[in-house]
Amino acid sequence: MNMSATMSAYNAAMTWARRSGLTDEGRVNRALGILKAKGALERAIVKYDATVDECLCPSNAHSDLICKHRVAVMMFKKHQRIMNEEFDLGLSESFEPTGDYEPEIDPLEVPDAIESWYELRDA
Ligand SMILES: [Zn+2]
Repeated sequence: MNMSATMSAYNAAMTWARRSGLTDEGRVNRALGILKAKGALERAIVKYDATVDECLCPSNAHSDLICKHRVAVMMFKKHQRIMNEEFDLGLSESFEPTGDYEPEIDPLEVPDAIESWYELRDA
């Protein structure tokens, strides 16, 4: 992603968050972290079906505030729009996972994973 366009998207999201109260500054900052970390947006989309409107993460379910994943998807779209307007690249505003990401290990799934690994090893 283009850093200048990412920061413009971040500034727009921060202004929107302050005006609307629909999310907070912490979530916008964490959304920026998602966009900067390789594979993190992909992971959020694969794991939580994150879109601008919906996200299956616990934070989104248990808070009235829009979660960092939805903010990150929104900032991604804004980034694409800025790039298209400035450079006429015709970039898609929807993020398509390519599978090029490090899978996140869910701590709750680790015992099962270890168990099945031993089963496989001892078979
Ligand atoms: Zn979320």
